[in-house]
Amino acid sequence: MKIILLFCSMVFEKVLKNIRPFIIAGPCSAESEEQLISTAKELLQRVNIHAFRAGIWKPRTRPNSFEGVGEIGLNWLKQVKEVFHIPVITEVANSKHVELALKYNMDWFWIGARTTVNPFSVQEIADSLKGLDIPIFIKNPINPDLDLWIGAIERIYNAGIKKIVAIHRGFSSSNKHDYRNDPMWSIPIELKRLYPDLEMICDPSHIAGKPNLLLSIAQKALDLEMNGIMIEVHYNPQQALSDAKQQITPPELQSLVQQLIIRKLIIDDELEQQLQAKRKRIDELDSILLEILSERMKIIHEIGWMKKDKDMTVLQLHRWGEVLKDRLSEAEKLHLNPELVKKIYEFIHSESIQIQIQILNELETLKNS
Ligand code: PEP
Ligand code: MN
Repeated sequence: MKIILLFCSMVFEKVLKNIRPFIIAGPCSAESEEQLISTAKELLQRVNIHAFRAGIWKPRTRPNSFEGVGEIGLNWLKQVKEVFHIPVITEVANSKHVELALKYNMDWFWIGARTTVNPFSVQEIADSLKGLDIPIFIKNPINPDLDLWIGAIERIYNAGIKKIVAIHRGFSSSNKHDYRNDPMWSIPIELKRLYPDLEMICDPSHIAGKPNLLLSIAQKALDLEMNGIMIEVHYNPQQALSDAKQQITPPELQSLVQQLIIRKLIIDDELEQQLQAKRKRIDELDSILLEILSERMKIIHEIGWMKKDKDMTVLQLHRWGEVLKDRLSEAEKLHLNPELVKKIYEFIHSESIQIQIQILNELETLKNS
């Protein structure tokens, strides 16, 4: 189902669309009144943030970890809102959280990665939001499943919420990488391609898991046309009761924001024309590439039938080894990334084997019928 996202609140729209980078900052968790007020005060003195965040109920992997201060923390967040005149945002994971967050006048809510994975929980939240006009930020699910993310957005949208922002916070994966959560940039890019009007921000804290990667992740997110960041900031990260390793201080956020390069979203006419010419050439080359691929697949079919006639196995390992070796050395001469060429050939090869196995099976089916 195609979602047409209409943002009706002018204030919200103005903040998100016209300000880059849009910044939500604050601690992972609310821990004490003093921690929230001091962090907010220092943050606002140093950085132009647009909302203050803090988790009240913390979804922790293991029991007996700090699971959030609960309702009392909402009162502290309300004070931050009243004293500093800044929107406050917290995480909701069920209808009780929604009820309490509304009671304490939280401005915006976010749905966490562990909740987005569960359609029952998302639907429960959606039902409790019916009839309200409140911005909802939806983090990607923990696992790299774009449909689950879209499903959560649809459930909230169908409840009548029109101000929806996606948050990219990375994914659990078995790939080896330096991140706490693999960014898998192609997933948020695909979401943006499917829903170009959907606003999206990045949570570099939960992707990085440590301070030194935050800048490069935030920069990449802005370069991919995300509107801004949600980042964890604590006045004393070492003492933090959750996510201590990834939180930074207000001065550190100030320095990070100063280093961000804000590139233009709209390109000028001259550049537009130059890009169009290059893109036309890419379109032509892609069409040649696809014709060649189709020609190659036809030959794969023919070979499949020849192997079938002579009762040969589908896979001749030595041939596959030679093909890969030869293509990789050619790739090197052409200055192509060998990893990329290897991946492409692995795809093509596995498709070719699939086609030839199908040829064998089709014949078996005919024989048996
Ligand atoms: C958080 O923002 O503190 C949090 C728990 O995030 P996530 O749902 O992305 O793990
Ligand atoms: Mn956190």
